[in-house]
Amino acid sequence: MNKLTLLNEILDHNKKFVEAHEYEKYETTKFPNKRMVILTCMDTRLLELLPKALNLGNGDAKLIKNAGALVSHPFGSIMRSILIAIYQLKAEEVLVIAHYDCGMSGLIAEPVIESMKARGISEETIDTLDYSGIDIKQWLHGFDNVTESVEQSVNIIKHHPLMPNGVPVHGLVIDPKTGKLDLIVDGYQA
Ligand SMILES: [Zn+2]
Repeated sequence: MNKLTLLNEILDHNKKFVEAHEYEKYETTKFPNKRMVILTCMDTRLLELLPKALNLGNGDAKLIKNAGALVSHPFGSIMRSILIAIYQLKAEEVLVIAHYDCGMSGLIAEPVIESMKARGISEETIDTLDYSGIDIKQWLHGFDNVTESVEQSVNIIKHHPLMPNGVPVHGLVIDPKTGKLDLIVDGYQA
């Protein structure tokens, strides 16, 4: 889409949306009706499909998204968001929902770094980060196996030192075409 029109289209639509009071049918509170927090992927195919496939409407869940539905650091912003959802926003269960055919599956860092260079990031910048102890390749790396990745993220959440007892953490993988869920970790059994 033309760079000069995307934002303008959004703003035009937004004005009409608000003026027509279309927001009224979405009115709810910040506390999830279904008392859960979901971590899933930013994949475009899941934007509407995932809520529909799980029967979620506005207000039903706290939804956290990133590339790959990954908790890659126990003290990063994803884990912080999950803890805030539990302690401050009444979430009582956690669902990690990755998906098949994810862009982070088998992601190889080298072509991404090549793209960065092609877009003007200098070799020197890459080297400087490298010398500073930042392993960019490792940092960009997604996962090799979606099932193992979900199990790993569930484990990080489940065993986080700040997680209270008695919060089920479930792990699932969704089909980005049909919306079918495969259960990987049943948090009630764990
Ligand atoms: Zn994905």
